[in-house]
Formats: sequence, structure tokens, C-alpha cells
Amino acid sequence: MHPTNPTASLFCMTRWTTALLATVLLACIALGHEGRRVAQLALLAVPMLVWLVWPVRSAGVHHLRTAMVWLWAMAFVLDGVVRAYLLHTYQAAPEGALVLGSAANTNPRESAEYFAMQWREMAVWAALAVACAVLLGWCAHHGARAAMLLPGARRAYPRWAMALACVLLLAATLAYASKPWRRLHPLLFWPNWVQSLQTLRGQWGDQQQARDRALQRAQAATPTLTQAGPAIVVLVITDSINRDNLALYGYGRPTTPRLLAQQAQLGSQMQVLRNAWSVDASTLPAMRSMLNFGQPESEDPLHLLALARAAGYKVWWISNHDDMAIEQKHGRLADVVDMVNRTPGRASASLDSELLDCVQEALNDPTPRKLVVVHLMGAHPHYRLRFPEGANPFEDSTDGVETGLLQAGRSAWVRQFRREYDAAVLYHDTVVSELLQMARDTGPPQTYRAWMYLSDHGQEVGHASDRAGHSPSTPSGYRIPAVIWRNQPSADLAAQPFRADWAAWTVADLLNIQWAGNQSRRNVLQPGYQWQAPVLPVHIPSFAD
Ligand SMILES: [Zn+2]
Repeated sequence: MHPTNPTASLFCMTRWTTALLATVLLACIALGHEGRRVAQLALLAVPMLVWLVWPVRSAGVHHLRTAMVWLWAMAFVLDGVVRAYLLHTYQAAPEGALVLGSAANTNPRESAEYFAMQWREMAVWAALAVACAVLLGWCAHHGARAAMLLPGARRAYPRWAMALACVLLLAATLAYASKPWRRLHPLLFWPNWVQSLQTLRGQWGDQQQARDRALQRAQAATPTLTQAGPAIVVLVITDSINRDNLALYGYGRPTTPRLLAQQAQLGSQMQVLRNAWSVDASTLPAMRSMLNFGQPESEDPLHLLALARAAGYKVWWISNHDDMAIEQKHGRLADVVDMVNRTPGRASASLDSELLDCVQEALNDPTPRKLVVVHLMGAHPHYRLRFPEGANPFEDSTDGVETGLLQAGRSAWVRQFRREYDAAVLYHDTVVSELLQMARDTGPPQTYRAWMYLSDHGQEVGHASDRAGHSPSTPSGYRIPAVIWRNQPSADLAAQPFRADWAAWTVADLLNIQWAGNQSRRNVLQPGYQWQAPVLPVHIPSFAD
């Protein structure tokens, strides 16, 4: 090959653009995949690249090729970018339970709120995808043309290049021949992914049989009541509340004036568990382990609601979530289900105070033994939608919290999210305190009453990293509040470490239920309580800080 050969210099351009395209593709693949997967995806991408170096004759074919190669390459780019976003934000793959479960369980309103919250991070990745799109378009347009060949030139490429192309094509053929390998191709993977969302939704669609089995299991456990007479128990499960943001837990902003006032009034009747932890960082698994006594699904665990019903309680499920999976797996086990958020015609449907009327109605019910489960939105993202418009006293704060965030190098938008999060917690305080007050005021004074409040999981809002949202990878994702009130004095539980997946043992105690499988060592109210640290995806230096 002579350097002065005009054919070679014309093809030089094609070689460079193809190499550039391959490099960009490989980088995008490596963004979203790891290890061997990168090589597998790269081989799946090969055939179109080989077409690019094939000298084509007609302009029509050239244009077709440009479009096809670009679309093909963009499939790999978008796949890599979406995966990189999920990895970066949630340390999760799209086919993992966290992403699949959340995506299958979301509705248009929630999706809109999610985008409103995450658009900044998404915009960065989208900008990268757009840059790749432009670059790849240019590369794809510069494929080899037969017109570049000089008349009489015998070959466009040296032998070694032809051999390399053949080897790559052969390897790609093998890649396509293998089904598990082929399935990684973005054009097959994502349609399959959508299919699994639909399958998952179908599984949730009718859980009647599973609920019937849960009720049978609860009856088979033959639960009995250790306390005669009427009983009113309220269980408040909230969403995305990090205890570090509650003044009740020592936070620098006055986010819980009403709960603090309740605490001052109630003394030892109200126990604020300082060291409370969830073992899951997202709603679906957190609710599952909380209500199923922390047992894995495979062990056919008891369900708290079924147990309460089998023991003679009338059970209410009053929820501000519009959530199919939770309604089907948990809510519908109750005697009365009230999905407040789904009621048409409510203007501020997402505010938690909307369900106070329903709770009051349940408490007024003449049934002697009642369990009222209240599922709040809490401070679930988007934070700005979790308090009434304009009700943010922290908007222009230059307080210690703001200074601390500045010193930790938190960005302006994370600090803004923190202000909105704290305003959501402040509004949440009115709702939670009101629910406690309603439990306190219900029935004749001597009626046994109990109330428990906890969050499904925590939330990262610039605590341990410069981001806001659900957070499986920082302790903030697991730091939850847990408060217990009974209209009787209690031993001091404040310092006891507590895990939310054991909460059902404690609630069963509040319900005064006894049954053969009861394990008092997991019940924080019992003297025989034995703390075991949960295994979390993130290192927690101490569960009692
Ligand atoms: Zn949640």
C-alpha cells in the first residue's frame, strides 16, 4: 500500500469516521453495562459497522444505509444512557425488582411528578444522548462509497482488514445464534422489558386467591386476644420520611411543632424510637416486609391485616396512594378499603389531610375492636406537591441547616429540595399529629387505644450525597421515624434500636393478639426483645447513634 494512493486517502476518511462511531458506541455500551456484557453488546453492534465500510454504489443505498446505521447505533446509545442513569441514580438495572416494580406500579400522575423531580439529572444524560446522536449521524453519513474507488483499483482494503471484518462478522453471527446473548440487544431487550411490566401488572391485577390464602393462614394460626373489651388501634404508615428532618428527632429546623407538643403532654405514653431503620429503600418491598412480619415470600408468611381480622378486629385501609400493587397485596385484605386519592373531584387529591375525614368515620364506627391502617404520601417526591401552595416557611432560610448544606458543598437545587422537603415534613406534622389526636379523643376514656407511626423508608435530600430522592446506596434511604402511643404508661423504649420489617410483631402486641408463631424477641415492646442488625446494601457503622 502506498501512502500516495488516492484510493487509500479517500478511504482514510471512512476509516476514521467508522473508528469514531465504534468508539462512541463502545463508550455508551460501557456506560450502561459491565464486564463481559460490554464485549457481548459490542459484538451485537458489529454488523452495521461492517456495512459502513462496504463501498456502496447508488446514492439511494447510501442514504438508506446512513439512516439504518444511525438508528441502529442510537438503539445502543439510548440503551447505554438509560442504564447509566438507573445505575447512577439507583444502583439498579432496568430488569431488577426495584426498577421493574416501580415502573409497573406507576400511573401517569406519578410519572409526571417523577420527571418534575428528576429532570435535572435526566437532562444531563439526555444532552449526552443528543451529542452522540449528532456525532453518529455525521459518522454514518461518511460511509464508504464505490465512487471513492479509482477505476482499476482491485481492492478497497488491505487483506488484513478484510480478514478482521470476516472474523468480527463470524463472532457477531455466533452472538446472534445464542439466545441469552441475542436478548441483550437493545431492540429485543426493551420490547421484552415492556412485556415484563405488563406481566407484572397482570399478576397484581387479581390477587384475590392470594388474599384468600392469607386469610386461611391467619385463621389456621388461631390467634386469640389477651385483652377483653373494646380496642382501637391506628397504624400510620407514611412514605419517604427521613427522621433526621424531624425536630422531634433533633433536627435544626422547627419541622414538628405539633408532635413535640404532643410529646410534652403525653410523657411516657408516647415513645419516640430514636434508632429506627427500614430495611428497604423503596415502597413496595418495604410495605411487604413490614406487613408480612419480615418473612420472605417463599415462606408463606402471615399478613398482619389477615391476623387482625382472624383475631376479631374490623380492619380499615385508608390510603392516599394510588398504587395498584399495594392495594392488591395489602389494602384489599382489610374489611373496608378507602383509596382517597382515587376519588374523583377532589381538588388537592394528593395532600394527606384529605383522608382525615375517612379516618374519623372509621373511628366513629360502632364496632368494638378496630384496626385503622392509614397510608400517607408523607414526603414522597415531588416534595413541592406534599404541602399546600405557599406553605414553605423555609423558603428564604439562612439558618444553620442551610449553612451546613453549603459547607458540605451541596448544590443550589439540592438545597432548594431540602427546603421543600422540610416544608413537606412540617405539613406532615399537622396530619400525623391530628391522627394521634383523633386516636386520643376516640371512645370513652377507659377504652384501650394505641397508635403507631412509622415511615416505609427514608429519603436522601443532600444528607450524605449531593442528590435528592429514594436512596438504596446511602444510610439516608433507611433512616425512618417510629413513634408508639398507648393510653397507658410504657417502659422507656427510646434508645432501643428498631427495624421496620419487625414492625408487625409490635403492632400485633398493640392489638393484644397472641398466637402460636408469635416471636416476642422481635417485638420492641417486650422485655425479651433481641435486636439483630439488618443486612443493608449500605454500610451502617452503628445502628444506635
Ligand atoms: Zn415509599
